[in-house]
Amino acid sequence: MKFFKLRKSVHENKHKIQTDMFRNFLAIFCISVLPHCGSAQSFKIVPLGIKGGIDESNLSAYMVAASGTNNYICLDAGTLHYGIEKAISNKVFSISSEQVLNQYIKGYLISHAHLDHIAGLIINSPDDTAKTIYGLASCIETIKTHYFTWESWANFADEGEAPLLKKYHYQALTPDSTYTIKNTEMTVKAFPLSHSNLTSTAFLVKSKDAYILYLGDTGPDEIEKSRNLHKLWLSIAPLIKDNQLKAIMIETSFPDEQPDKTLFGHLTPHWLMVEMNDLAGLTGADAMKGLNVIVTHVKPPQISIDKIKAQLKAEDTLHLNLILPEQGKEIDL
Ligand SMILES: [Zn+2]
Ligand SMILES: [Zn+2]
Repeated sequence: MKFFKLRKSVHENKHKIQTDMFRNFLAIFCISVLPHCGSAQSFKIVPLGIKGGIDESNLSAYMVAASGTNNYICLDAGTLHYGIEKAISNKVFSISSEQVLNQYIKGYLISHAHLDHIAGLIINSPDDTAKTIYGLASCIETIKTHYFTWESWANFADEGEAPLLKKYHYQALTPDSTYTIKNTEMTVKAFPLSHSNLTSTAFLVKSKDAYILYLGDTGPDEIEKSRNLHKLWLSIAPLIKDNQLKAIMIETSFPDEQPDKTLFGHLTPHWLMVEMNDLAGLTGADAMKGLNVIVTHVKPPQISIDKIKAQLKAEDTLHLNLILPEQGKEIDL
């Protein structure tokens, strides 16, 4: 019996070695022969919160790391704790939620300082470890003067109202400059977005030769009387043509029934597709086919979210790969 088991395990090992050899061959083949082969993954995304309002346990926050590492950044930080718990129950992480917060999240990239994008960061700050908060100067200024103050909370940062607890370091990003993200394998470039009365941000995150584009809240250029999205599309069109852009993460807050005059700096399926078509005008329609578009910031109630899903599908004449993320479920790109 023992012998049989041994024989079996030798056989399994042999099988495993053969499987591993085949996998290695595939990996090398994919990298060298097929540069856009699906199995050569670049990023993992763990959504901690995916909605654009009222459910405080599920607000915009996305952990992103280079594949093969656990050095994550958090793109916006509306919900942290509940999302991490959800990811743990889905077996995305096998460590405690405190360890995910303290050890895996290396920094925060905040698109704008609306509460639904930053509440998790503020609330979790007493239990967090030292890290950097990245954002445009205007966003950092709001965090500094409205949240990490001694009247709103406590000042856990290294600037602003005294005394300074110096847990967080602010790094203001100048648009179009590239910054390394401390303790990760990634860099970031920021682009301003128009979000009604304030400036929001798109972050172009790079790991090796691959990119992910994350947009904070934004309205369409036509309604916002802006060229910010068009300028962003001009910058990233070459990356789509070269197949280096792994995904665009962009909001769709309301269904098409929402009147233009009450968009409050947000997109609908119609306006998302207007913008995607503007981008396609720069890349050619072929390059957009199958592009991963991760739809963020869908606003409750559920009936609106269902409408958004159906309308996006119906209006997707570019044949994008539309992805509706789920809280605590990993996406590999
Ligand atoms: Zn928002
Ligand atoms: Zn907002």
